[in-house]
Amino acid sequence: MSDDLDPTTLNVETLAIRTAQLRTDEMAHSDPIFMTSSFVYESAAQAAARFSGEEPGNIYSRFTNPTVRAFEQRLAALEGGEACVAFASGMAAISGTFFSLLAPGDHLVSSRSVFGTTNVIYDRYLKKFGIDTTLVDMSDLSQWEAAIRPETKILFLETPSNPLAEVGDIAALAKLAHDNGALLVVDNCFCTPALQKPIELGADLIIHSATKYLDGQGRCLGGAVVGPKEPMNEILGFVRSAGSCMSPFNAWVFIKGLETLSLRMQAQSERAMALAEWLEVQPGVARVHYAGLKSHPQHDLAGSQQSAYGAVMSIEVEDAAGNRDRQAAWRFIDATRLISITANLGDVKTTVTHPATTTHGRVNEEEKQRAGVTENLIRLAIGLEGIDDLKADLSRGLKALASA
Ligand SMILES: *Cc1c(COP(=O)(O)O)cnc(C)c1O
Repeated sequence: MSDDLDPTTLNVETLAIRTAQLRTDEMAHSDPIFMTSSFVYESAAQAAARFSGEEPGNIYSRFTNPTVRAFEQRLAALEGGEACVAFASGMAAISGTFFSLLAPGDHLVSSRSVFGTTNVIYDRYLKKFGIDTTLVDMSDLSQWEAAIRPETKILFLETPSNPLAEVGDIAALAKLAHDNGALLVVDNCFCTPALQKPIELGADLIIHSATKYLDGQGRCLGGAVVGPKEPMNEILGFVRSAGSCMSPFNAWVFIKGLETLSLRMQAQSERAMALAEWLEVQPGVARVHYAGLKSHPQHDLAGSQQSAYGAVMSIEVEDAAGNRDRQAAWRFIDATRLISITANLGDVKTTVTHPATTTHGRVNEEEKQRAGVTENLIRLAIGLEGIDDLKADLSRGLKALASA
């Protein structure tokens, strides 16, 4: 992309393909991978100038790497943020954000519907460093308000959430955070900037597990945080010291993934919408949790802050005898032949998982119940296979329920 083009005039599809393109003297059309741990200098004096910070430039791939930087710049452009820091995984991005911005005595308010491992960070590690967390129901603004204390520094949510596709009001929560001197941090993993731009709605920091839709084909682990120069500088300082940085190879995979992000998100959302509508009227399905359905409690809110509803949904199943238990869920899952039984999502391959015994297996019973992760709940992450083939496979699951 020529330097005289103003990126703010370009749309997300174009930015995902054309921003921060890397080009060496070899003039390769595809971005090169700078697979190197360190960089060399013309002289000892230049090395000294680089290390002292007098002269900008690469030193070591834990600090900067051109391929990782290209991914960071491209994602920052897509989210509409000033800066981006890439991490080794989504969890490294989440924990790195907390450890760089919080201090002992600080308080965090979080949606209780967050990625299961995030709860482990709250309970085992933040607590150990004297940082308290209060969990609230994401869609109940009064609970967020009531949880805020003078020492609250961060409000954290994932919207839509995993696995129930609950939706939080980003603009209202941003206002609440700012009125109380706190930051609003949004995990935008399930929508990606192709469907939702939380910064435009007032959010301060955006978190990604690049492992999911940014890659889009289930190949690499990665994470990222996007936001204003401050506090991103603090987070950059942390990742350089903590070493939880992204591999250049993974960054290259994510750069290629971003090129098709919008197309995939739209196509996968369309399939998910069609399947959710179909599943909702099938016998054996007690309930479908998908924000695209009118029956979803935050359907209107989702429509106002997302351009589509994403590809993740959950269903509650019931066997012919009326049992809504683990056996029913497992019977449904085990009857599928095409869909992959795996806890990952964001892939072009459709996946199915039983959250209560996998992603949320380590969450205590009480929290599981409060988060709505029941024994008969099944999560589906819809990929790009033919819709009729997906329907036929899900029908195998439904048939297994009917014959129980
Ligand atoms: C997967 C996921 C994470 C964690 O990401 P990893 O790359 O697995 O560390 C965080 N948040 C959400 C919403 C996720 O789906």
